[in-house]
Amino acid sequence: MADGTESESRKLLGRLREAMATDEAGQARLDRITHLIADSMGTEVCSIYLFRDVDTLELCATEGLKPESVHQTRMRLGEGLVGRVAKSGKVVNTPDAPSAKGFRYMPETGEERYSSFLGIPVQRLGEKLGVLVVQSRDAREFSADEVYALEVVAMVLAEMAELGAFVGEGAALSPLHQKSAMFRGGTGQEGAAEGHVWLHEPRVVITNPIADDPHREMERLNEAVDELRVGVDKMLEMSQNGDKEQLQVLEAYRMFANSKGWMRRMEEDIARGLSAEAAVEKEQSLARARMGQVQDSYLRERLADLDDLSNRLLRILTGQGKQTGAELPPDPILVARNIGPGDLLEYGRSLKGIVLEEGSVGSHAAIVARALAIPLVVHAERITTEALNGDQILVDGDQGVVHLRPEESVVSAFRDKIAMQADAQARYASIRETPAITKDGQHINLVMNAGLMADLPSLESSGAEGVGLFRTELQFLVRNQMPKRSELVALYSRVLDAAKGKRVVFRTLDIGSDKVLPYMKPTDEPNPALGWRAIRVGLDKPGVMRMQLQALIRAANGRALSIMFPFVAQAEEYHAARAEVDKTIAREKVLGHPLPETLEIGAMLETPSLAFAPQKFFDDVGFLSIGGNDLKQFFFAADRENERVRRRYDTLNSSFLSLIERIVERCGISGTPLSFCGEDAGRPIEAICLAAMGIRTLSMRPASIGPVKSLLLRTDLGELRKIITDARHRGVQSVRPAVMDWLSQNP
Ligand code: PEP
Ligand code: MG
Repeated sequence: MADGTESESRKLLGRLREAMATDEAGQARLDRITHLIADSMGTEVCSIYLFRDVDTLELCATEGLKPESVHQTRMRLGEGLVGRVAKSGKVVNTPDAPSAKGFRYMPETGEERYSSFLGIPVQRLGEKLGVLVVQSRDAREFSADEVYALEVVAMVLAEMAELGAFVGEGAALSPLHQKSAMFRGGTGQEGAAEGHVWLHEPRVVITNPIADDPHREMERLNEAVDELRVGVDKMLEMSQNGDKEQLQVLEAYRMFANSKGWMRRMEEDIARGLSAEAAVEKEQSLARARMGQVQDSYLRERLADLDDLSNRLLRILTGQGKQTGAELPPDPILVARNIGPGDLLEYGRSLKGIVLEEGSVGSHAAIVARALAIPLVVHAERITTEALNGDQILVDGDQGVVHLRPEESVVSAFRDKIAMQADAQARYASIRETPAITKDGQHINLVMNAGLMADLPSLESSGAEGVGLFRTELQFLVRNQMPKRSELVALYSRVLDAAKGKRVVFRTLDIGSDKVLPYMKPTDEPNPALGWRAIRVGLDKPGVMRMQLQALIRAANGRALSIMFPFVAQAEEYHAARAEVDKTIAREKVLGHPLPETLEIGAMLETPSLAFAPQKFFDDVGFLSIGGNDLKQFFFAADRENERVRRRYDTLNSSFLSLIERIVERCGISGTPLSFCGEDAGRPIEAICLAAMGIRTLSMRPASIGPVKSLLLRTDLGELRKIITDARHRGVQSVRPAVMDWLSQNP
């Protein structure tokens, strides 16, 4: 096919289709395919290498190389030219293979006679399946047409592999998506779960990659694209008044849907013999491959848009809608590239676990998963390409590990772990009503963090003595538009009803940084964590804060009310916010609404500066709660969202404990009630140390109350304080080793 015409290309695909239609075994089919490719391309050699395991390729069929090397010759990912093609996902085309970068001679194949080399990755939607190679004796570079034709063939091979056309004896010919696989990601929410995969976006299966009537395929593509454009225009029309970000995404969709380059490439693929859906998927595969390479987040998002658009188009073409009629499997574990908090709430507690390919620890989905106490693993790369609906799956939220189609031994070890956790839960349930009084008689008040209605049943089941932090922004984040005051009144009053007189501390809206409201104009800040967020927004644009304060007062309806302001960095901000409360109270009084029976107004201590505020601030403030997540990130200058630096600094670092000690002392002087409500309060070792430093109220996720209480009941805080003080005097960086040592001697 040296002249590489479209009809030649179609002829080759036609022959491939014949090969697919035979009921030969996988090996015979592969042999036939290498033969017919070499024949059509006019090359001496055609070989197919498939992955034997994630980083080993195996020569599985060849025309032209020594037959005895089939299933014997192997190379690692990145090794030799074939390994280079597989690793980079890029074509290698050279007239002089032995001089090309990375060349490695495989003597058993007899390939030394061949000078030119063309290697094409065989990949499907970002999943690497193997490499297709042609070689010839004469030193020539393959033409762009030839490369293109072979790329189309590689795409068909990938589809055939997906359909199980090459299944046979041996590891490299084992069916896809059947081997067990492990994914290492990050912890989004602790806990272990066993269940079955439920793909949020089911895979579209293409059964007809090759078509022989290009005109008909062209028509099908055009009809589908028209339908897609109409759909996107309709969505745009509907959201004209709504959310800006969504509009931007839809505009990008429209841009792609009308993109001439995109259409042209697909039409060319069809002209060469691909079906309309295979042409769409080829573009999608390219976009996925690029997505893995670009660093720029804007570009990545646009490529993700293109990916979504291709999915829509494929659904139109194949008729495989989102509603495939499939039912949730028993014990469903949701697997998705990413998911918004709204969608996640729709699934609600029916899910046993969640695994996301993207997502981050601080994402809204993670916040919702935590509220629902569903184990969540984020950053499980490539899981959506590997997992099939219904596959058995184990989610280890503690370690951030996922086992897909696990071996029996892994399953039984995992079940042991779940059983141990269940035992521990039973033990925690038995101490639910027991107050957290330490061995040396100190009562520690254990309260919980909440933010959604779904959290409230935990108030009873966890044994929490109240809600130490109600993150009001979650209700704002899970909606598509700003909630109305009346909605907030209803919501807060249900929270207070559910608390049955226990104290609930409502934190006013803490938005900005990673918490961006979908319906608010995004501000483009170079460093959002240090930017216009929380109380800063509340004071500069007080409309929403006033509405929220009113809603809180009306919801209290004469009951006790506690309000806390987030991210106060200097006393003045607290005073200004407090003045807003006073004004709102005065207004509500005039309007004839009942005023709260008692009103406490506090602040979160989340910036080091507030720890050094004038003592008068400590006298004035109603109460303080240490927001350890933020305080730690600013104290160590280490972004709490950045996995690379986040774990570098220990909460039990001597310097950080000195800061805590200072805050405790200053609150002690003024008699200011102090609590700690960052994530560390829910970690048993950290929690006992914070208590030993003098903090008497710890606010945490409901699931942490049992483990923390269990350890507190066994701890003598006075002794622990001595251990901590001695370690600090010795000049240690972190007191953790000393504390662990002490605990192991006092089990
Ligand atoms: C904190 O910063 O510790 C805190 C409790 O607030 P958030 O995690 O919501 O920022
Ligand atoms: Mg905070």
